[in-house]
Amino acid sequence: MTRAATPRVLIVGGGHLGLYTARHLQQHLRPGEAELVLADPKSHMTYQPLLPEVAAGNVEPRHVTIPLRRVLPRFHVFNGEIVALAHGSRTARLRLIDGEEYDLAYDHVVVAPGSVVRTLPVPGLPELAVGFKTLAEAVYLRNHVLMQLGLAASTFDPRVRRRALTFVLAGGGYAGVEALGELSDMSMDVAPVFGLRRQDLRWILVEATDRIMPEVSPELSEYTADVLRRRGVEIRLNTTISSCVGGRIRFGAGLYADDVVEANTLVWTAGVRPNPMLDKTDLPRDDKGRVVADAYLRVRAMPGAWTGGDCAAVPDLACPEPGALCTPTAQHAVRQARRLADNLTSELRGDGRHPPQPYLHRHAGSVAGLGRFQGVAQVYEIRLRGVPAWLLHRGYHWALLPSRVRKMRVLTDWVLESLFPRDISALGELEQPRRALQAAARAQQQPLAAGRA
Ligand SMILES: Cc1cc2nc3c(=O)[nH]c(=O)nc-3n(C[C@H](O)[C@H](O)[C@H](O)COP(=O)(O)OP(=O)(O)OC[C@H]3O[C@@H](n4cnc5c(N)ncnc54)[C@H](O)[C@@H]3O)c2cc1C
Repeated sequence: MTRAATPRVLIVGGGHLGLYTARHLQQHLRPGEAELVLADPKSHMTYQPLLPEVAAGNVEPRHVTIPLRRVLPRFHVFNGEIVALAHGSRTARLRLIDGEEYDLAYDHVVVAPGSVVRTLPVPGLPELAVGFKTLAEAVYLRNHVLMQLGLAASTFDPRVRRRALTFVLAGGGYAGVEALGELSDMSMDVAPVFGLRRQDLRWILVEATDRIMPEVSPELSEYTADVLRRRGVEIRLNTTISSCVGGRIRFGAGLYADDVVEANTLVWTAGVRPNPMLDKTDLPRDDKGRVVADAYLRVRAMPGAWTGGDCAAVPDLACPEPGALCTPTAQHAVRQARRLADNLTSELRGDGRHPPQPYLHRHAGSVAGLGRFQGVAQVYEIRLRGVPAWLLHRGYHWALLPSRVRKMRVLTDWVLESLFPRDISALGELEQPRRALQAAARAQQQPLAAGRA
């Protein structure tokens, strides 16, 4: 790509921070003030807080994606991942899906590649566990859970049946609890259609600390645990998983030490860590690997580099504790995006009319859906539960969806889903689109080979 005379702004990652920053920049910058470029391996942003609703089948997967080219007409969008970044020479290395690589030069960079799931060295984990951070994982889990119900309904072997109907989820933060809330609600709702009893299903939530949902008050956390327990979910606090080879999940520390549960399903939501692509950059990092930012969302001691969201350590000026940092939430990422875009615009213009401002946001609280008509919410001092919290959860995320078209589609999904019984088609075959052709090719070869012999 040839360099233009105008300064080039490169955004690495079109997620919550990247997309919202891009939208503000394209709204506020006058034509010719900057050349706008965004790189992301995906062609869309995924609205992650609605992934649990995708897993439950309440919302179509496509409807929680925002096509980058549609909402960013002033941007040149590159579909590729930035595999390295040398801010000293202001170049980023882009890798396309076919493996081709080249350097992109820039003047300003917004580093927003987010985070990845944090794993632990548990034997058997990579073979058995599925994360819950991507659309593929949410869609897979929906199909997988329905297929396990189908397996249990079709086998005469009690051990196979028990394994199929045991679902373990590790990590009791809100992402994990919402995933468990929606998936357990969906599976118990449809169990009778498979000829299964709700009590045949075993859902286990494993949490290493002494309570789930640390993001809300202890009272609401206890209420959430209560809702799940009443549904039949076993909650194992102060517990870790020490091994899960071959689906034999062994518990480590705590009350359940050395207990073993056999399961075909392990969902791993035990925290996140900054995107490992940051290892291939010359940006300053803290002890957890986050890019060190100042309150203006500038990378420390790196003029022209900006950051925020899950990959960054941004001071939380609203928190009185010295050294407090913003938590990795969409709530912060979206608000940081606005501040970052304003500060970057001010620096690009350099006229001093709107000097950069520090990022300051008092955490508004948390909302979480736990399945149909059930939720918990804490907004400033107000605590809600049940249907009001569930409505607030839906309303809040609906309002934040960054596309009117997607808003309409999600709303339509919710209306239709409330009118009809749950859809129980398990579309697991989507994961292996070549299987039918390969089987046909094999079958065609066999008679020929047999005939020759
Ligand atoms: C299931 C779930 C539920 C959640 N619910 C809530 C909630 O209710 N409320 C809340 O506040 N937060 C919630 N969160 C957290 C929230 O989604 C994240 O904090 C937020 O997405 C962080 O924004 P980000 O821009 O830093 O990263 P992301 O939104 O993850 O965006 C990162 C982007 O970078 C791209 N990328 C990755 N690597 C590269 C690369 N090498 N080159 C270029 N691009 C790259 C990715 O494709 C992605 O598009 C939830 C998260 C999950 C997983």
